[in-house]
Amino acid sequence: LLYEKVKVFSDGKCAEEEAVKYNNFKWTCRKINDTEQGTKKYYKCSFKRGSNCPAKIYLLFHASNFEVTLFQAIIQHDHTTESQQTGIPIEVKNVIIELFQNGYTTQKSILYELDKLKIMQPKASQISSFLVTLRKKLYGPAQISLNYIKKWCIEKSIIPNDPDECFVANYYIKDDDADPLFRLFVTTKNLMKNCLNSNHV
Ligand SMILES: [Zn+2]
Repeated sequence: LLYEKVKVFSDGKCAEEEAVKYNNFKWTCRKINDTEQGTKKYYKCSFKRGSNCPAKIYLLFHASNFEVTLFQAIIQHDHTTESQQTGIPIEVKNVIIELFQNGYTTQKSILYELDKLKIMQPKASQISSFLVTLRKKLYGPAQISLNYIKKWCIEKSIIPNDPDECFVANYYIKDDDADPLFRLFVTTKNLMKNCLNSNHV
């Protein structure tokens, strides 16, 4: 990467203040290098979060005097590419899926197992959100809808021949978004028969 000289400052504080907002972008210091010429403070463009913009600048704090020179890399800004660092790496994801299928279904137990396997641990929040996606993929949506319950009730309302097979004797569904409610009465022929012989139900 080639750099060109942009500006010379007479003191370090001014230089640093200007560097972080140079050319109306946003710059974040990534590394500091001590060289024979002086200390070099490197900044990376962090104008757009998540993009891995290649634009870089650095400040050279001259060893021989109090001057500070700003250099910029001869490269175009690119705010379209997604950073490689976001998300869990695919290899780690595969390990988590395997652990999940072996009964390690909580974020805590997965972190513990990854640590035992000496595998790089993603952030706890990343594991949590991955587990949500994984559960959805494996078990379908977490909430079953009232429509689904209604359909199930209708299907199960037919009284079966088997005296021990359950059926829905009665159901009540209030399909109200603000205050949904459902009640089910599930029974079997044999249970009903017992009721007839009981004093208390
Ligand atoms: Zn940029």
